Amino acid sequence: MECEDETRITFSQLKEECQQLAQKLANLHINKGDHIAILSPNDATMIKIVHALSYLGAVAVLLNTKLTQNELQYQIVDADVKVLLYHESQADKAEGLHIAKKCNFSKISGLPRKHTLLQEELHLDDPFTIIYTSGTTGFPKGVVHTYGNHWWSAIGSALNLGLSEKDKWLAVLPYFHVGGLSIFMKNVIYGMPVYLMEKFDVEGVHRAIMEKGITIISVVTVMVQRLLNYLGEANYPKTLRCMLLGGGPAPISLLKKAQAKHIPIVQSYGMTETSSQIVTLSFQDALRKVGSSGKALFPAQVKINKQHEDEAIGEIIVKGPMVTKGYYNREETNEKSFAGGWLATGDLGYLDEEGFLYVVDRRNDLIISGGENIYPTEVENALASMSGIREAGVVGKKSQQWGQVPVAFVALDNADLTKEKIIAYLKDLLAPYKIPKEIVFVEALPRNASNKLWRSKMKEWVEN
Ligand code: ATP
Ligand code: MG
Repeated sequence: MECEDETRITFSQLKEECQQLAQKLANLHINKGDHIAILSPNDATMIKIVHALSYLGAVAVLLNTKLTQNELQYQIVDADVKVLLYHESQADKAEGLHIAKKCNFSKISGLPRKHTLLQEELHLDDPFTIIYTSGTTGFPKGVVHTYGNHWWSAIGSALNLGLSEKDKWLAVLPYFHVGGLSIFMKNVIYGMPVYLMEKFDVEGVHRAIMEKGITIISVVTVMVQRLLNYLGEANYPKTLRCMLLGGGPAPISLLKKAQAKHIPIVQSYGMTETSSQIVTLSFQDALRKVGSSGKALFPAQVKINKQHEDEAIGEIIVKGPMVTKGYYNREETNEKSFAGGWLATGDLGYLDEEGFLYVVDRRNDLIISGGENIYPTEVENALASMSGIREAGVVGKKSQQWGQVPVAFVALDNADLTKEKIIAYLKDLLAPYKIPKEIVFVEALPRNASNKLWRSKMKEWVEN
């Protein structure tokens, strides 16, 4: 592990420190199977605590620091958390939470080492972490990941991206999300160095790529946009062999721009339930299949569940050893979502003739207008391609005549843009029924604690 302040921890130091931490945590009467919440920004100690909990057989419940106190309280109760461990920076929030036992990181390090039997073997079927989904489509659900889920996620990724002795993975995504945490699973499973960064600041990440020998970085779309702007006419060193993109949709124009700069972007598709990516494009197909999320990581499978045989688009369903066995305490949802071992993702997509997956939209967000399907992402991308529009969100509104019609929320960079100009621009790009019937100007679009476009909030706005 290499940190921004130049501290380096070897694998044997990491093991030693995590075992000592486990002995300190044992003072808090943490037993096998207990659920222990961690509230922390990106920090090496947070990761060490996750490993330490595995020596005690406890399950780490990773909390999102951007959540409000109420939202945190909900997850703590929902996940049956016994103890809350928190980073000093989260003291204000932590103090207001109702839970029998809490302890901050520096207090833990000051505890004496209790003589405890540490687990010497891990069982792939045992639970290791609980991470909540982002709550984009409803209440967040606690996803239970076993050691086996994390193991297979790391192995599936290595079989696709390859593994080099020169690899060093930059970890800047939030570690409480599965995409960030998965880097640390790869760290210990591959024996691969990682470079830790507390948060995404474009200059710092740029400098790390230029100077620190980073070979792989996991990113989300907005990071790519900002890095590309910052990069300008310069180029990244050849050592950067992969920019693994996930977490949400990416406009094709952005992917093409990155390719023109020879940035090795690899698009992927996944979710909390699949322990990060489950479908990823390979290097050799990245140019040929731009816009696709690729193929299932070995040995996972992906299929499209179609309502009618002649339709191309249907619900994406996935199966594989990196897919969770279920949500914590949600029997009814589990029965519905995991029929026959296949996870119904709630996402719509299609496979092309060669079996490459294209993610289209969320099933819940589909707009049906006069019997025609409108995928909001397509309309949003058309809007966002107009210069002067910073971001756009599209949802359906009830209509007597059409059933539903699309309505757009738009945040502008250029105050001169009018609704008429926007509609005129869209007419060249979209069929008439897809063109928003109303355009509402807003300062910014609603986003949830994972910074995802929060269409359900916009749906509430159009209903009011
Ligand atoms: P919730 O399940 O609580 O509504 P969420 O689905 O946003 O929240 P996450 O697990 O963080 O929670 O996100 C996974 C979702 O992100 C996927 O189901 C999909 O909708 C979206 N996503 C991930 N990768 C892609 C991609 N390549 N293209 C389009 N969408 C993607
Ligand atoms: Mg989801």
